[in-house]
Amino acid sequence: EEEIPEDHPRYQDLLTRHRIEEGVEKGITHLQGMHAEGRGSAFDYLLGEETIPTAEEAERAAAAHLLLADRPVLSINGNVAALVPGEMVDLAEAVDADLEVNLFNRTPERMEAIADHLRDHGAEDVKGLEADARIPNLDHQRAKVDEDGIYAADVVLVPLEDGDRAEALDEMGKTEIVVDLNPLSRSPQVADVPIVDNIIRAIPNVTAHARDLADADDDRLRGIVEEFDPDRALEAAEKRIRNGL
Ligand code: ATP
Ligand code: MG
Repeated sequence: EEEIPEDHPRYQDLLTRHRIEEGVEKGITHLQGMHAEGRGSAFDYLLGEETIPTAEEAERAAAAHLLLADRPVLSINGNVAALVPGEMVDLAEAVDADLEVNLFNRTPERMEAIADHLRDHGAEDVKGLEADARIPNLDHQRAKVDEDGIYAADVVLVPLEDGDRAEALDEMGKTEIVVDLNPLSRSPQVADVPIVDNIIRAIPNVTAHARDLADADDDRLRGIVEEFDPDRALEAAEKRIRNGL
């Protein structure tokens, strides 16, 4: 990270790419994660590489959902672990959520490497290694979750999630918060709260909103949740991208 000059016009994008490369080298991120990053980078470019107003609203609604939840869980994959490990630990602390490692390309080595990486960044308890429950209607490897984690969660934050799993979690009746820069992807489209923003900006923003709302009563939090319109947020992001073109 030292090698990238901070005044470079595309500093954030270069930093993001560099972190994914490091993640691959450390055995945290799958090679396919680099392609996902490339797609995300293209969408971020078109969005102006900034948090658009409807994403900010989504980030506040996400914070309200997480604070209202009985059993909130934050899902971690290889890209999330490489890009925002400490930020996910901070968010988990701010909303009293569990962290669960959940991989598209699951191997015991990567599961362990990611859990260790999160612990290095301050995580105490990391779920996902038990894998004693299954998400219905998904193939075996991708269905694995912890019984007392994602399986039992009422609210799940699934950043950069694969469309099939996002749909399957939605069918389980969970309140789903998705971070995804592509508003046309299935994952944000099935989300109760689609956050169309770079995860690097999105997670610290959700945490800041959660801290700001820490003393809010449930009525106020429910008001924020009800005010948020996922379809409007997706439309606004798509419009921004089209205008950018
Ligand atoms: P599919 O149609 O199967 O969902 P996909 O192109 O959406 O294919 P995925 O592997 O599902 O690919 O997910 C990667 C998603 O994550 C992409 O939509 C991409 O825009 C998004 N993404 C990648 N990097 C980031 C990032 N840093 N912040 C937010 N979203 C990102
Ligand atoms: Mg997708």
